[in-house]
Amino acid sequence: MVRNVIVIGSGPAGLTAGIYAARANLKPLLIEGLEAGGQLMLTTLVENWPGHRDGIDGPDLMTAMREQAQRFGAEIIRGNVTSVDLMANPFVVKTSDGEYTSRALIIATGASARLLGLASERALIGHGVSTCATCDGYFFRGKPIAVVGGGDSAMEEAIFLTRFASHVTVVHRRDTLRASKIMQDKAFGNPKISFEWNTEVDDIKDKGKGEVTAMLLRNSITGARKELAVDGVFVAIGHNPNTALFRGQIETDANGYIVTHAGSRTSVPGVFACGDVQDHVYRQAITAAGSGCMAAIDAEKYLEGLPQHLGEGQHLTVPTA
Ligand code: NAP
Repeated sequence: MVRNVIVIGSGPAGLTAGIYAARANLKPLLIEGLEAGGQLMLTTLVENWPGHRDGIDGPDLMTAMREQAQRFGAEIIRGNVTSVDLMANPFVVKTSDGEYTSRALIIATGASARLLGLASERALIGHGVSTCATCDGYFFRGKPIAVVGGGDSAMEEAIFLTRFASHVTVVHRRDTLRASKIMQDKAFGNPKISFEWNTEVDDIKDKGKGEVTAMLLRNSITGARKELAVDGVFVAIGHNPNTALFRGQIETDANGYIVTHAGSRTSVPGVFACGDVQDHVYRQAITAAGSGCMAAIDAEKYLEGLPQHLGEGQHLTVPTA
């Protein structure tokens, strides 16, 4: 059976695309992927999702979106996609458990924040360790925090976080920043920011409290170690877009992000991309969800232009409410 549309990914972008495609009677198949629910599954309270005045836990928000997509008829499976063939339409999507074909494809595979790889870092995500200053900065009002990294993201996060934190220490593994000159100047000129140069993070401590209390730092030149008391650690060492499946089949930028134009269209007709897999600028749940909506509408328009795209008895209708 050739489907109308397959959505790959189940973060805010993928699930919103699923909701809209289901409500357009396209009977979408949504393949969740290994990290079902996406990056919000790694957060605690989300306070900037409109409509939840007092915030909502990331996993609860994703569960609600998943159920909403299912309520309108999206078929959601837990498989992990192992290969995709975009060379001919219908597209072929293989998972570890099966093979699916579809006339339109929505890529919502997201991006993964790079992590340092410490066991303590993973354990304390959502408990003082964060990869998103916009999301979590507010929790650190009046507290000392650290930002790890030396690129534009690290400088942007450090500068943003000075609105809340009592002090921000930037921990960078070299003695020069990768960030653009303008961002460097802004960070150097901010009295609330200081730098630990040539410094690696050996460990993040919680002293049995279940919340970050300090970082164990090591100077890579002298080998000297020291403990830095902080309440929060923002890891800003870049993101990896999850585009390995599509490499060589679709246009990506120099950093591997899928290039979109005229909404969510990609270089392959019938393939649409939404969320962090095509956005390294905003990276917010709400912008991802908005772009998921766009991808579903763009896919619907694309399918309308194809002959015989619907199964027997199916009609394209866009509910008005
Ligand atoms: P990035 O430019 O790749 O910088 C990553 C930083 O993290 C580098 O300083 C790197 O150190 C460090 N790093 C990487 N792996 C590490 C590890 N395992 N341990 C410790 N440190 C590690 O990433 P980004 O800052 O997210 O920026 C990505 C792209 O978006 C860039 O093109 C950037 O210009 C752009 N961007 C622009 C803006 C803006 O203009 N406002 C804001 C954000 C991002 P090294 O320097 O030693 O390699």
